[in-house]
Amino acid sequence: MRAADALVVGAGLAGLAAAERLAAAGRRVVIVEARDRTGGRIHTVERPGPDPPVELGAEFVHGHSAELLELIRAADLTLEDVPERHQPGPGVAGWPHPDPRALLARLLRRPSEALPDRPVAELLRELPGELGRSGDLEAVAGYLQGFHAADLALLGTRALAENEAAEDAEGDEPHRLREGYGALVRWLVDRLDPGLVEIRLRTVVRAVRWREGEVRLEVRPPDGATSDIVAPRAILTLPLPMLRRPPDDPGAVPVDPAPAGWPAALAALHRGAAERIVLRFDERWWMSGPGANPGFVHGTSEPFPVWWTSLPSLAPVLTGWTGGPRAAALAGHGMETVLRAALESLASVFARDAAGLRSLLRSADRHDWTADPFSGGAYSYGGVGAIEARAALARPVAGTLFLAGEAVAERGRNGTVHGALASGREAAARLLGQE
Ligand SMILES: Cc1cc2nc3c(=O)[nH]c(=O)nc-3n(C[C@H](O)[C@H](O)[C@H](O)COP(=O)(O)OP(=O)(O)OC[C@H]3O[C@@H](n4cnc5c(N)ncnc54)[C@H](O)[C@@H]3O)c2cc1C
Repeated sequence: MRAADALVVGAGLAGLAAAERLAAAGRRVVIVEARDRTGGRIHTVERPGPDPPVELGAEFVHGHSAELLELIRAADLTLEDVPERHQPGPGVAGWPHPDPRALLARLLRRPSEALPDRPVAELLRELPGELGRSGDLEAVAGYLQGFHAADLALLGTRALAENEAAEDAEGDEPHRLREGYGALVRWLVDRLDPGLVEIRLRTVVRAVRWREGEVRLEVRPPDGATSDIVAPRAILTLPLPMLRRPPDDPGAVPVDPAPAGWPAALAALHRGAAERIVLRFDERWWMSGPGANPGFVHGTSEPFPVWWTSLPSLAPVLTGWTGGPRAAALAGHGMETVLRAALESLASVFARDAAGLRSLLRSADRHDWTADPFSGGAYSYGGVGAIEARAALARPVAGTLFLAGEAVAERGRNGTVHGALASGREAAARLLGQE
């Protein structure tokens, strides 16, 4: 391939979507990716046999984002409805669980002057009276930590209100791709014209040096010898931690010179921690007794407080989920520690015996996204000032540097696959508009 017109850092959904748009406009693109695979935080493991593929990263298609649904249709993939049957585990007291999103709507839907931008923890501390019943505050806090992977001392009220508004507009009902999210990534990669787009895997970007009209990526390719890749423009889809780490941190990707406003804007966005563990059993032991055939089963204070089945598939598979501080506490631990925590949680939620459940277990899968050097967390959430910060980060820098990825996705779509897709496409459109 001749010299590139643009570089794209990262072959997750944002990077692939950006490259696809640039190539469609006839630009030559080099995608530089640290891992030995494409997809980033979409990581689907396919095993022989009838079970659905195992998702280690993104699993659900949330709501009905037109862009993502159009892509799924074009790729001819099968979108399955996931039955939203939520119930407490047989071992859990204190149900009915209040609907946390309805409670949040009462807190957040107020004129913006009456919703000062501040940490959600402060709002919850001051407003328990508005959340009438006992247990309501815990329900809201549990939802925010679990779903948004957030530390409530950092999550900003206006960023959260924007997330909730986006879900109201685009829906929050979950769907799943029968073929797995990885099939969508494969389809996107296969569509890239090899005459225009080159993907360099196992190539770690160590630093980004730029001046107007030139970006120089310092890279370490598989042979270990450091070299530079140069092009007039670049779209960076690096996850937040790589951009936020101090330049002397080994996992940092310093941008030199730091574009005006970036350090302050990046400080208003936060990395969230989430852990999923996928357990395959000999049989669907949860199918007997009261509450059989559940969709989502909730506990309370367990390390993994939420479990779901793989419905509509009847595979004997349960996925455990935890987010926020509970997930952060598991990061860096080995599989056996996490599996023990998961089985004890499952036993507590379903009123079973952990050793008995272990004897029915056939396989367990998880990925430590927080310890992963190329993600440094699961997905982002906005702190105080996040809305202005994302708008600032979306602005092209001297027509040369462009930022994309779920963390900078605007209109409340951060932390999602459809947000990453939209942000990659928007960055590509901005780049083409600046040539
Ligand atoms: C456990 C988990 C569950 C999730 N569940 C859902 C869900 O159900 N639904 C949903 O919509 N979203 C979900 N998400 C979020 C979704 O996966 C992300 O928002 C989206 O995939 C992010 O895409 P991206 O392109 O912005 O980032 P990434 O996919 O992270 O892509 C960035 C790429 O940059 C590469 N990179 C990093 N550092 C370097 C470097 N120094 N040099 C070169 N390359 C580098 C990375 O390897 C990566 O491939 C989940 C995420 C996780 C972790």
